[in-house]
Amino acid sequence: MVTRCYLCGGKTELKTVTAENWWGEKLILVENVPAWVCQDCGEQYFDAGVCQQLDQLRQSPPATRRTVRVPVYSFPAKSPAASGNSEE
Ligand SMILES: [Zn+2]
Repeated sequence: MVTRCYLCGGKTELKTVTAENWWGEKLILVENVPAWVCQDCGEQYFDAGVCQQLDQLRQSPPATRRTVRVPVYSFPAKSPAASGNSEE
């Protein structure tokens, strides 16, 4: 149970979300996952038991419910963050 957001300190509430997981190179979505969601920044936190269930899902995935297409974008090449401390 997470009552306060670790990032911004905002209040969280228990909601049902769609969890995004990377299984290696593969992105999968799990619907109807209970999560503590920050009311301010939207950060999601999962209880230990929920994380375990997500792990178990990865070990033995059930039948796929449906498949969605996900658009992929590239971050602009010249980012201020990357040019700040070059080590070369
Ligand atoms: Zn927050």
